[in-house]
Amino acid sequence: MSKLSPELLQAMKQELIRKRDDLTRSVTRELDDMSNNEAHHLADLADAGGDANDEDRSFRLLEISGAELEQVEAALEKIEKGTYGICESCEKPIGLDRLKALPFATMCISCKRAEESSESGRF
Ligand SMILES: [Zn+2]
Repeated sequence: MSKLSPELLQAMKQELIRKRDDLTRSVTRELDDMSNNEAHHLADLADAGGDANDEDRSFRLLEISGAELEQVEAALEKIEKGTYGICESCEKPIGLDRLKALPFATMCISCKRAEESSESGRF
C-alpha cells in the first residue's frame, strides 16, 4: 500500500486538481481560439492561407494538454483507489521527490529508466 501520509496525499490531490483545472482551461481556450479562427476564415476567405501553422500549433498544444489531462485524471483515480504513489511496474512506492516533481508519475525512477534504456536500446 501507499506509504504516503494522508496529509501529503491530500496535498498531492489538491495539486493534481489545480493542474487539471489549468489544463482544462487551456484546452478550452485553444478550442475557442480555433473556432474563432475558423469564423474569421469563413468571413474573410479571400485572405485565406498562411494561418495553417497557427492551427497546427493549436492542434499540437491540444494533443499535449489532452495527454497530460489523461495522466492527471488517472493519478486522481489512483488516489481514490488508494494505489497512488505505487509503481505500475514493480509495485514499490515511487520516491517522494519524484512524485513532487511529477505528481502524475506512474512508475518509479528505476523502472522508468529501465523502460527508457530499453526503448533507446532498440537502435
Ligand atoms: Zn518500479
